[in-house]
Amino acid sequence: MVSGSGVFSSKAEGKMAAAESDRNASSALCTEFVNFSARDTASRWLAANNLQQEVYHHLAEYVPRILCLGLSGGSREEQREELACQLLLFAPLEWLLLGEDPSTGLVPLQKKNLSSPLCGHVFKVGEPTYSCRECAADPTCVLCMQCFLSSMHKDHRYRMTTSGGGGFCDCGDAEAWKMGPYCQNHTPVGSSKATEEDPVAQLHPDMVARGYSIFSIILKYAVDMLTWDQENQLPAGLEPLEKADSYYCMLFNDEVHTYEQVIYTLQKAVNCSQKEAVAFATTVDRDGRKCVRYGDFQFCDQAKSVIVRNTSRQSKPLRVHVMHSSVVAHQCFALKALSWLGQIIQYSDGLRRILCQVCLQRIPGREDSSLIDCLMLNDSKMWKGARNTYHQLLMNSLLMDLKYKKIFAIQFAKNYRRLQTDYMEDDHDRLVSVTSLSVQLFTVPTMARMLMVEENLMTTIIRTFVDHLRHRDPQGRFQFDRYTAQQAFKFGRVQSLIGDLKYVLISPPPEWSDQLRNKFLEGFDAFLDLLKCMQGMDPVMRQVGQHIEMEPEWEAAFTLQMKLTHIIYMIQEWCSTDELVLIQAYKKCLSALSHCLGGLPDGDQPISLSLAGHSVDTFRYQVSQEKVSIHLPVCRLLAGLHVLLSRTEVASRVPEQLPLSELCPHLLIELPLRCLVLCAQVHAGMWRRNGFSLINQIYYYHNVKCRVEMFDKDIVMLQAGASMMDPNHFLMIVLSRFELFHIFSSTDIRKRYREANKDLVQQNTLIEEMLHLIIMIVGERYVVGVGQVEPLDEVRREIIHQLSIRPMAHSELVKALPENGNKETGLERVIDSVASFKKPGVTGRGLYELRPEWNKHFNLYYHHYSRADQSKAEEAQRKLRRQNGEDTALPPPLPPPLCPLFASLVNLLQCDVLLAVQGAVLQWAVEPSGGSWTESMLQRVLHLVGMALLEEQHQLENSSTDDDVTFNYASRITRPGEAPSTSGSVLALLESLQNTPHLEAHKDMITWILKMVGSIKTIRERTSSTSSITISLGQGLGETVRDKDKAERKRKAEMARLRREKIMAQMSEMQKHFISENKELFQQSMEELEASSSAAEYSSHSSELTCTSQVCVGPWRMGRSERRQLVVCILCQEEQDVRGHGRAMVLAAFIQRSTVLSKNRSRNLPVPEHYNPLFMHPDLSLGIHTASCGHIMHATCWQRYFEAVQLKEQRRQQRLRVHTSYDVENGEFLCPLCECLSNTVIPLLPHASPPDHSVEHPSLEAWLKTTNQQIAVLHSAHRKQSDGASGWVEPVAPKGFKVTFTPQSPFSNSISEMINTFSMSAYKVGLKVDPNEQDPRVPVLSWSTCAYTIQSIENLLMDEKKPLFGSLPCRQDDCLSSLTRFSAACWTSAPLTTVHAHFIRLLSVLVPDSQVEDAPCILSVDMFHLLVYGVLSYSSLHCLEQSGRSSVDSGHLHLLQLITVAHLVQILLTSTTEDQSMDEDTEVSEEQELTCQLYRSLSQHLGSVLPEVSSGWQLWSCVKAAIMPFLRTAALFFHYLNSAVPPADLMVEGPGQWEALCSYLSLPSNLLLLHQDHHTLLEPLIHRWCCHPGVRQNLQGGGVIVRFPRESNRLINLPEDYSVLINQASSFTCPRSGGDKSRAPTLCLVCGSMLCSQSYCCQMEVEGEDVGACTAHTFTCGAGIGLFLRVRESQVLFVAGKTKGCFYPPPYLDDYGETDQGLKRGNPLHLCLERYRKIERLWRQHGIAEVIGHAQEANQTLVAIDWQHL
Ligand SMILES: [Zn+2]
Ligand SMILES: [Zn+2]
Ligand SMILES: [Zn+2]
Ligand SMILES: [Zn+2]
Ligand SMILES: [Zn+2]
Ligand SMILES: [Zn+2]
Ligand SMILES: [Zn+2]
Repeated sequence: MVSGSGVFSSKAEGKMAAAESDRNASSALCTEFVNFSARDTASRWLAANNLQQEVYHHLAEYVPRILCLGLSGGSREEQREELACQLLLFAPLEWLLLGEDPSTGLVPLQKKNLSSPLCGHVFKVGEPTYSCRECAADPTCVLCMQCFLSSMHKDHRYRMTTSGGGGFCDCGDAEAWKMGPYCQNHTPVGSSKATEEDPVAQLHPDMVARGYSIFSIILKYAVDMLTWDQENQLPAGLEPLEKADSYYCMLFNDEVHTYEQVIYTLQKAVNCSQKEAVAFATTVDRDGRKCVRYGDFQFCDQAKSVIVRNTSRQSKPLRVHVMHSSVVAHQCFALKALSWLGQIIQYSDGLRRILCQVCLQRIPGREDSSLIDCLMLNDSKMWKGARNTYHQLLMNSLLMDLKYKKIFAIQFAKNYRRLQTDYMEDDHDRLVSVTSLSVQLFTVPTMARMLMVEENLMTTIIRTFVDHLRHRDPQGRFQFDRYTAQQAFKFGRVQSLIGDLKYVLISPPPEWSDQLRNKFLEGFDAFLDLLKCMQGMDPVMRQVGQHIEMEPEWEAAFTLQMKLTHIIYMIQEWCSTDELVLIQAYKKCLSALSHCLGGLPDGDQPISLSLAGHSVDTFRYQVSQEKVSIHLPVCRLLAGLHVLLSRTEVASRVPEQLPLSELCPHLLIELPLRCLVLCAQVHAGMWRRNGFSLINQIYYYHNVKCRVEMFDKDIVMLQAGASMMDPNHFLMIVLSRFELFHIFSSTDIRKRYREANKDLVQQNTLIEEMLHLIIMIVGERYVVGVGQVEPLDEVRREIIHQLSIRPMAHSELVKALPENGNKETGLERVIDSVASFKKPGVTGRGLYELRPEWNKHFNLYYHHYSRADQSKAEEAQRKLRRQNGEDTALPPPLPPPLCPLFASLVNLLQCDVLLAVQGAVLQWAVEPSGGSWTESMLQRVLHLVGMALLEEQHQLENSSTDDDVTFNYASRITRPGEAPSTSGSVLALLESLQNTPHLEAHKDMITWILKMVGSIKTIRERTSSTSSITISLGQGLGETVRDKDKAERKRKAEMARLRREKIMAQMSEMQKHFISENKELFQQSMEELEASSSAAEYSSHSSELTCTSQVCVGPWRMGRSERRQLVVCILCQEEQDVRGHGRAMVLAAFIQRSTVLSKNRSRNLPVPEHYNPLFMHPDLSLGIHTASCGHIMHATCWQRYFEAVQLKEQRRQQRLRVHTSYDVENGEFLCPLCECLSNTVIPLLPHASPPDHSVEHPSLEAWLKTTNQQIAVLHSAHRKQSDGASGWVEPVAPKGFKVTFTPQSPFSNSISEMINTFSMSAYKVGLKVDPNEQDPRVPVLSWSTCAYTIQSIENLLMDEKKPLFGSLPCRQDDCLSSLTRFSAACWTSAPLTTVHAHFIRLLSVLVPDSQVEDAPCILSVDMFHLLVYGVLSYSSLHCLEQSGRSSVDSGHLHLLQLITVAHLVQILLTSTTEDQSMDEDTEVSEEQELTCQLYRSLSQHLGSVLPEVSSGWQLWSCVKAAIMPFLRTAALFFHYLNSAVPPADLMVEGPGQWEALCSYLSLPSNLLLLHQDHHTLLEPLIHRWCCHPGVRQNLQGGGVIVRFPRESNRLINLPEDYSVLINQASSFTCPRSGGDKSRAPTLCLVCGSMLCSQSYCCQMEVEGEDVGACTAHTFTCGAGIGLFLRVRESQVLFVAGKTKGCFYPPPYLDDYGETDQGLKRGNPLHLCLERYRKIERLWRQHGIAEVIGHAQEANQTLVAIDWQHL
């Protein structure tokens, strides 16, 4: 809006004139408006000596008069302010700057400007951002949607997220992208030279000069005002001419008080309504401050003291200032001025650069400080709105100019420590702090390195961080357990510094300068100081005797560790790129470690250990008795650097530069070993009394988030140490730290279990753990530098082992892998080589399955397996091997060779101490009676033996001469053990174990080992004697052994099969008894049967009756042959006959209002009191749907059950005061069998009696005549009753018709009671009223739910192309059947006269009746509803017919025929046949002819209202399609009403449906014959239908015209790409709070409305309660049921009523077949149509409430959510 001042001015007078009448005060201003000339003012200024003085004078005069003239902030006043600011304040500035009219001057400026290659689009909250996972320099590099779509990255692997606001598009920044930095729109045109030219040179020198002075003045003004802290005074030159007593009470935001507290306080303090208070609070939250009162000083001060008093109780009070109105006005204008600057520089890069220079210019007199410094350093003192505005300006100016961005970055780095300290004290979000700009500056790699070199940034960040964590113990270590809440809060904030450090280090330098080396190493020193503060923190001491009293704090230390994990990794990466740096860093780290270890071997004198002929000195230390800490970051960093020495081969190239001789391996391994022993002891249960704190620490030590820099590095350190030591010495120290040394060194190792030893189990676990540790130390070689592997091998191995447990989804795998600083795991690069992907179905997710060829890499003792993982994997692998017919041995896989630095590790495998340990364990295993060894122990020993043999075999196979082979394990184990007690060699022990019966499980493994020994011997013999015969012999031997094994296995399998079969037979016998008793089992089988059974039932009937043609209505209908209905009560299991006079049986049912069939969502819901539901409009806007789970109970059993539920609920509510998934007060309960949500029961009634064929069947004319006579009699009887007058001519009653007759109820009391129960439920739910048995509308609602439910089911069957009969699941079939029979009987419980009145009114639509007023026209009546109501109410009339001459069936048929004709007319009236030239049949059939005839006669009645139709063929085919749903619903209705067997043709899809349907309904297949045959009777009726004024009115556009067939209702169409939705939602603004972004935009899937959910602003009152936008919308759109998509969360939300809801998986999947609820992973999401159709089907089946019910039952936390606030 900057440029438009010229354009504005013409309209301005008019607008201002309107404003004039509103405000007298502003009228004076308005006259000035007209007289004001921006041009003159500008030229006056230009001439002045002191420009600043002039401008200030102008501002002092106008600003207080234009801005902030009171409290009310209507949009009209805002507009007026805007306009005045533009005309009176900015226009002269623009004139001055441009020297001409801004409306003409700015355009050429923009044209001349070279467009910047930077996009710089600033993100709004919730806007989608895209990052390329292949090309982005780091994950903070993002693109806006426009740039992304026109970039090359859209075809790459990308990540999509929603912006949290702030930050801008990095398109055009060459450093941000490894490839494709420019999108098509931002590709620089012309040479790169142009961009390096100074853009200021493009401008006219005069303009440059004027620009400098104007920008300086305005920026200085803005800075002064925003940093101004006087409440009652203004800076010099701005003091107003006259100072009125007008003040504001200004309320400021803080992050301490809640919305509710602020709203409550404001209502009290400034006396406003709740709504106003909400508006104030919302603004305070958004802008950081808001005026809440305007008036004289005292008035405002009073409000201030109330607010302070009210909020100071628990915390520090809300900040409130009483400010003079002129101060507020200038501050407001200062913000506008900053925005103005931001906009004006968009026109020209030259102007932008001028502003940049002004920003960074030194302020005279204040050395080293610029205007931008002033702003930054006052950042934490400013309110949110001010900060946001100037941050925005920074982004538009300094950050968009590459040259000045650098200068700004330096200033930022200089101020870094101050800014961070201010931020620590500030209580605002980091997002609104200037410190958050670091991401824009530090992530540019060249900038980061420049700042490191020039401003020593790395050191500054680390030192600042360390300084903020002041609490230390006497050794200088962090001590988080002493933190107060305030310090904990600061600890939370200070972590953002680690984020900054991460930005700086994210990309290692491509080349090093000496300066960079120095500064990096300086930073490294600082970092070591930080790590030293962590080394040994939170030490633990084993608790003996009693349990610890208080769980020690541990989380802070681990949080810090987790945050630092990536930093440590990055620092190592930096080191690895430069030899000099690596060597220096290694030295520094080593000396830091020696410093830490300084006090280690204190005091105690060393002890000497000897075993198996070796001895070693070590110090006395026991983990179980002294302090031990899990935090050893210095050790672990050294371990990491040590590996780098190997990886970069520095160790082998320049060993002389390394301080390797200074290393004492004993010291290196000490601390990591203690830590691992601690874990082992915790596993062994020795630390139980230390509580959960320790267990959690151990958990995180191994967890994927920490393990890379904890557990993994400890293993590496032990590997490093072991490779530098004598293996025997190493193992002895390990034994000693595990406190196991005495066991293996005792003279008789067998003694162990002869002694009574209470800690035997613990000891066994420790032995297992120790053996596992040795396996890991020797076997884990997948770290580059430890083993000779490629970087991706490690990831691949991790994946193999995860998938060895079971097939996994992509996200599960991602979670199991550590992420690097770029949030990448490397998964995608290897996954396809090891696994195959299986796509998901409609539920579940896609899974990766390990390819079989990778199974051989499985290692049972993989170091990242938890114990649970290990046993699951073992089971899965053994099962797999059995399935493949292989043996079940799981030998170790062949490991990769070690790197030279670690090469000597393998010697551990064959050293004497290990052999002694192996011998001991095997010895124990040979003597099973002791029972004090474990199979796990043995298994681990066998694994170690296997590893050694593999090593030897590998060496033998890969060496040319015997001399290379250092390994001779196979021969060593043939020798007897060294210890005097071992009875034989390891090999001998193994051989004796092979056939031990109690070791069956390990037999295969032992066999494998012995075969390995054999084959090694063979190789050795071959190399010495080169005899090849022995090999083949050996193999042959092996073969026969294998064959024998196979046969044995087969025999066992056969036996197992026989045993299984026997068990199965027993089981099925038991099951039969079980079903009757066990609910769940019963239910399961029910569900299985459900789908098939209803079809089966029919087919058995139809086969009996195929020859006769079946009819379901009229006197010729066929009754059901079998009349007896036997059902079982699910509660008491008793069988019961369904009889009219028997005990009532009921069906659990759920009634709900529904708008599912309606496409019309604009109709307002009816007011219950005045709504007459007798006529359903054909748009079916609101129906009542009934569903049932099909479970039958005695009415009495159900009543008892429901009472019990009520009682339980009452008690529970008193106790817990929470909701349940069902609302007992509204009659809801869960079906006792299947827990399906229900709110009423349908009584089961007997089938209709077969038709009486003896009576005559009157013609339509005769029947109508009789009926009319009967109605006349009723009219007169009614009149007599009401006014008692008898002046009327008594109509002649037809023979046998007795008005006074009172029919006997055909039902027992209990059934009548249940009929009443259901009627009331339908009434209550349908109208949303309290029960009232006297209401004449009661029976209508029962009929209504019958008709509506049939319609909705027919509609589904039609759309799913299923046959009309036989395809419904049992529960629906039972439901419809009992519902229809109930509806037919429900009139018996209503007064006869009421039902008569209904019938008379219904019939009057078809047969106009002078006595009935305002009958609706046929266009506004749904004919199926009319048919159902008519047929069901006709019984009440017919029951007075006592002559026995006519049957009720004739009436039904005539009603059907009459209504069919009416529907035909309805269809023809509303049909729109587009004149298409389709191939028509040349022959004109009878139907077509008759249709045309009828249409012509309609045209005669209505004249030109109907369009001309030429083709009878089209008309007839149109009619045929349109009437189909009616015929189908009618067939369903009469089928259930009369229990008529359906014809076979309707039980399959296919041709002949039409004929079958017509004949089933006893209608001619040429429906027009109905009209033709009764022409004389019908013609006058049709004439009167057409003459109804409603028809003409309707057709001429006076109402909603419903055309037939009604289009099915569907959920809205969703875009294929989810980001389209996100984008749509990000531009959606809250409809209530003037253009604010909505926090939780939510899309209604039914009508497509976007709502502002979960927010105060859009709450509405529904039925006396404030509810959120979703719930409110639900009431109008879905009659209480709602389906939404929460766009930011990618989550489907189901809502029912006010208290119920659940989340449902969204129909969007990523390429791995997974949903992303919460949008956490950011993979691109695409619409899965099948899943969306599934949701749609749920909705159309009215299953939403049921899904919610089940979800809430399954997950109780869902019940507690306040769904109504969404
Ligand atoms: Zn962009
Ligand atoms: Zn772009
Ligand atoms: Zn890319
Ligand atoms: Zn019962
Ligand atoms: Zn049930
Ligand atoms: Zn809103
Ligand atoms: Zn909606």
